[in-house]
Amino acid sequence: KNAIEVRGVRKVFGTGEAQVAALDTVSVSIRENEFFTLLGPSGCGKTTLLRLIAGFDFPSDGEIMLYGEDIAPLPPFKRPVNTVFQSYALFPHMTVAQNIGFGLEMLGKPRAEIDARVAEMLKLVRMEKLAKRRTSQISGGQQQRVALARALAPQPKVLLLDEPLSALDYKLRKEMQIELKRLQHETGITFIFVTHDQEEALTMSDRIAVMSSGKILQVGSPRDIYDRPAERFVADFIGETNFLDARIDSIEEGRAKVTLKSGATISATLPDGFKPDGEATVVIRPEHAKAVKDGGDISGVVENVVYFGTDTHVHIRLDDGETFTVRQQNARGAGTSFERGQRVGIVIGDDAAQILKD
Ligand code: ADP
Ligand code: MG
Repeated sequence: KNAIEVRGVRKVFGTGEAQVAALDTVSVSIRENEFFTLLGPSGCGKTTLLRLIAGFDFPSDGEIMLYGEDIAPLPPFKRPVNTVFQSYALFPHMTVAQNIGFGLEMLGKPRAEIDARVAEMLKLVRMEKLAKRRTSQISGGQQQRVALARALAPQPKVLLLDEPLSALDYKLRKEMQIELKRLQHETGITFIFVTHDQEEALTMSDRIAVMSSGKILQVGSPRDIYDRPAERFVADFIGETNFLDARIDSIEEGRAKVTLKSGATISATLPDGFKPDGEATVVIRPEHAKAVKDGGDISGVVENVVYFGTDTHVHIRLDDGETFTVRQQNARGAGTSFERGQRVGIVIGDDAAQILKD
């Protein structure tokens, strides 16, 4: 069941020469109960899309459906949608409990109902002890919890979160990531989460939409997006990537046989519904290839070995001049060690190569 369907939505700001298409015909369905993430660099249109869903602004074209109904006629406060902003936007002169109850007061709910709901929310975000503090007198992480509780209190069907963790330092951010996952799970509310941080998107989401320049390039599970990027931008934006030129030899059942510049032939997966011919680029993640002393599908010379604790990155200059990175686990007894200047081969794993659309 879909909570939100965005259909052919465009959003243009300005007129004439100064016109900017902040969203350039975006279509996406977000399922009920899903932790859905919009991931992309600054300026790609993430906030604009959230603002259209919340009703703070209107699409230039297209429509947004909530549980199958067009929400265009509904003003923001009538939409069963709430937003958590990066800045929290709490009222500093009010207590934690007053902040959480604010939305319910505005809706004119009876006192007893507000008090019960606030108590429930305080418990949910583990802030019972600080209920009577002013929000100017609590830490950043605690303010974040209050902002979440306030947004959840009116029981929205969909919660929009616009880079809510980006103001927190690393350790607190990691803690709040786990906290957010727990809240989503416990409340069963559909979360639409915005971030420009690829690691955050991979670790938190049920599904991710990767955006660039007002467009959604790919939607999929973290694993799909990481292992099977369909376009160069997606592959490059998420994680480290090796690109190799290849010639398509044959195609069958979603896979292609390709020949690399080294003359080696490997099998590669194809993006859904994509049938390339002639030349193509394949992408291979560093941990899906293995460096070996002899043999391999391609070969080159070790240029650098970088130790990262849990793993080691081996940077190899291929015989055709390109660079290739292999990542090896550093578990005890695992892996071979390599030295700068050493000649090595690279074995490309069976399911490692993916063909890109562009
Ligand atoms: P993101 O949240 O991904 O960083 P935004 O949605 O804020 O991106 O912005 C997308 C594009 O639309 C940017 O080029 C931005 O400058 C432009 N934009 C956003 N809001 C406005 C506005 N109110 N007026 C004019 N341009 C805007
Ligand atoms: Mg933004």
